[in-house]
Amino acid sequence: MLQGRPDGRTEPGDQMRTHSGPDSARDGGLVTVARAGHVLTMGPKGDIADGAVAFDGADGLIRAVGGHSTVRAAFPEASTVGDSRDVLVPGLVNAHDHLSEGLISGIGETMSLYEWQQRLIRPVGPHLTREMARAGTLLKGAEMIRSGITCVNDMFVHANPGSLASLGVADGLEEIGLGGVICFGAHDLPDPLPMSALLEEHEALSERLSQSENVGFRLGIATIHAQTNQLFDASVKLAARHGWKVHTHLAEVREEITEARLAYGTNTLGRGVSAGLLDLDVIFAHCIWVNEPDIDVLTRHASSIVHNPLANMILASGVCPVPRLRAAGIPVALGTDGAGSNDSHDMLQVMKCASLVQKLHHLDPLALTARDVITMATIEGARALRIDDRLGSLEVGKQADVVRFAGDGVRLAYVHDPYQQLVFCAGPDDVADVWVAGRHVLANRRLTTVDEAAVVSEARRLAAELVRLADLGQLSAMA
Ligand SMILES: [Zn+2]
Repeated sequence: MLQGRPDGRTEPGDQMRTHSGPDSARDGGLVTVARAGHVLTMGPKGDIADGAVAFDGADGLIRAVGGHSTVRAAFPEASTVGDSRDVLVPGLVNAHDHLSEGLISGIGETMSLYEWQQRLIRPVGPHLTREMARAGTLLKGAEMIRSGITCVNDMFVHANPGSLASLGVADGLEEIGLGGVICFGAHDLPDPLPMSALLEEHEALSERLSQSENVGFRLGIATIHAQTNQLFDASVKLAARHGWKVHTHLAEVREEITEARLAYGTNTLGRGVSAGLLDLDVIFAHCIWVNEPDIDVLTRHASSIVHNPLANMILASGVCPVPRLRAAGIPVALGTDGAGSNDSHDMLQVMKCASLVQKLHHLDPLALTARDVITMATIEGARALRIDDRLGSLEVGKQADVVRFAGDGVRLAYVHDPYQQLVFCAGPDDVADVWVAGRHVLANRRLTTVDEAAVVSEARRLAAELVRLADLGQLSAMA
């Protein structure tokens, strides 16, 4: 399951072997018991003191959740990982990402969104290849696993028609053992691109992912105002015809609203309603510049939202009204956003900043608590992506996406409140073990699925190549 590349195809990137060998991550059919002093199930069982989770290495499903002694007695032959000092949580859900930016972190912090798109994203897009997509995905995938992420909702954005570069994300996620959902964020503005090639990439990515065990597909619309009427209508119709769910951005910056009003006489959400987009199952990234009528529309159409606090702060985009949106009953997930706009893939930073920015903005320490943001990063994130039937909580029968925070380090030496300890104190070094669908992808702080040094080396080589091809010399010290 999810070992290497199940379709058996070879890619240009295969010249650099990043596998660490056979599937050492899957414990051939044996049951594992993960134990902790605090098990935060994020499900009906709530928090369990001195608890454990048992899961099956063969089918990747959770077999038992409860007190350690009870679970241990039910599976006496199982191997045990962890002890009473640790904290267990469900795998974290990164609900908005752009792995197309996997090779351009750490550039352009002084730019606002439109300038950043013009000076960085637009030059890079035509040069992205499937090989680069795979390399960037492996690099950021390693960073994600190391912060407890087990599932990522990605939108790959490029302007390289016919390259099928987005398929490289599928290659990379499967290779490193992450689950997720991938879309191709099509756009044909400001630079015209052939519509047939854009629509064909949705179909090709869907076909590629139909062979994947743990990575699903959505149709991507880069942004509502980055598509011509022709492409926007065709995209909505294509998604409706196939029954595909959709991933897009909405109301990230104020300029978007102004431009839309001038162009269409309504905001981008209004354009989406007119085109039938809101009749589909859509997850919207950002939703910062939304007013009460917009929130009413989003609520009535059962939409989902992803909040990306790091990218919002780096680009100075604004403060998402997270408490208001959640109070309206809209699921609000958390995302890192792309490697170019965040520029980290550390989900612990995302959770901490999500809470802090709301506390400060509202001058209210209750505005968004540690428990709120762990909920958003687990079960609420899974609900936003409509995968909460199998992910987001530690429950019998669900997929064994499990993260162990080890209590052997300075940050978790004692635990007064496990939620506050994880959100405000912990760092990636405290993430000791990660299982994705029962597969042990991080074992005692070591990645088992890839050769990490080879991943880093390959990413460095391709990042330099991308700087040269996209002529980023004025922005990058790698030129
Ligand atoms: Zn984004």
